[in-house]
Amino acid sequence: MADGLAVSVSRALAEASPMAERLFGTLAEKTADTVGVTRASYGEGEQFAHDLLAATARSLDLDIATDWAGNLYMTLPGRDRSRPALMTGSHLDSVPRGGNYDGAAGVIAAVTAVAALRRAGLRPSQDITVMATRAEESGSWFKGRHGGHLGARMALGLLWPDELETAIRIDTGRSLAWHIAAAGFDPKKATEGPPRLARERIGAWIELHIEQGPVLLTEGYPVGIVTAIRGILAAREVKVLGAYAHAGATPESYRQDAALAAVDFIAGMDRHAEAVRARGGDLTFTVGKINTDAALHSMTKVAGEVRFSMDIRSRDQAALDGIPPVAARLAAEVEARRRARIELGGFAPTPAAAMDAGLRRLLAQGAIELGIRAKELPCGASHDTVDFASVGVPAAMIFVRNANGSHNPDEAMEFADFAEGTRLLAMLLARLSSGD
Ligand SMILES: [Zn+2]
Repeated sequence: MADGLAVSVSRALAEASPMAERLFGTLAEKTADTVGVTRASYGEGEQFAHDLLAATARSLDLDIATDWAGNLYMTLPGRDRSRPALMTGSHLDSVPRGGNYDGAAGVIAAVTAVAALRRAGLRPSQDITVMATRAEESGSWFKGRHGGHLGARMALGLLWPDELETAIRIDTGRSLAWHIAAAGFDPKKATEGPPRLARERIGAWIELHIEQGPVLLTEGYPVGIVTAIRGILAAREVKVLGAYAHAGATPESYRQDAALAAVDFIAGMDRHAEAVRARGGDLTFTVGKINTDAALHSMTKVAGEVRFSMDIRSRDQAALDGIPPVAARLAAEVEARRRARIELGGFAPTPAAAMDAGLRRLLAQGAIELGIRAKELPCGASHDTVDFASVGVPAAMIFVRNANGSHNPDEAMEFADFAEGTRLLAMLLARLSSGD
């Protein structure tokens, strides 16, 4: 029986693959930028991708729906529609001048897998819904106070009360609410009734995504099975406030040097991360942006102000929970030593998430049955999957080997690897939905 399912899923998937290749080609062509592709969250490119996928789903005779935030749902109806649905998908936006595969691969894989199941004559026991989320890349497109992954979080009812207004798109200066309305959807419905996706109506969430690191490529695996997703604490703008002073005329004991205070603080945080790792823990610490004020700074001045960002990640939620008190203590120490003020400005949290053990087991078993070499590995980047896991939905992720990382135009996923990942996804959906 297992062999029969593997054979029929593989055959149907091979037949559905040309459609997937065509979709990647059309997306690359129609959302091309000077280099790479640009599909802004709630922008033209994202809308084109949503329209293309909806039209494809319609041609496959799937049920189409959207929610007030513009997330797209494409459903293969099950025999018993009252049962919690199996959901699979990803996002269709990209970072500015990004690659064609980050996000889109997961939606195209899901539609292709569903098309293959239909071809194989499978009538699922419950609905299988492909979801194309909105604005997963909101970290790149929206500034101001927001929690990222806006589309998935809106669907799951996880949006903060004022986030529709405090999330501001960097290029237009308009709010998230404005952009939702401009795309033809209805942000006023945010507070009406229960969220579109209720936890108890979702049997499982599975997302296929390109790997954004080098592990699968280096170790020779086409496909990965994610064990856990790192959570994030983001401090977008830490301010260190000292006093501008002459570089030669001001004695050290009179200085309030913002640059040296920033250096001390950052070095202290790095030492903390190193200590956590030395104990066998998992913690990354990144200062991606750091600057003095170009209008006021000079080589011959003590720096009066420094601003920097902090991105802190861990698979272990406790390690993340430990960060704010450590940072506050360290800031107080440095303030006393350097006579400068450190304003941390608060941490925006994205929780860490363990993937569902049962789904991981089914994926590992499916890979063996299909003859696919698959490696279990943790995921360093954050995804919509985290939000599903955070409300208690059993969640899993399939990685596809990809060279050159992501969020850049050089993403390089081989179609053959994508087809293997999609075959594994189809097999999992078939297995989960073949029961009574
Ligand atoms: Zn992504």
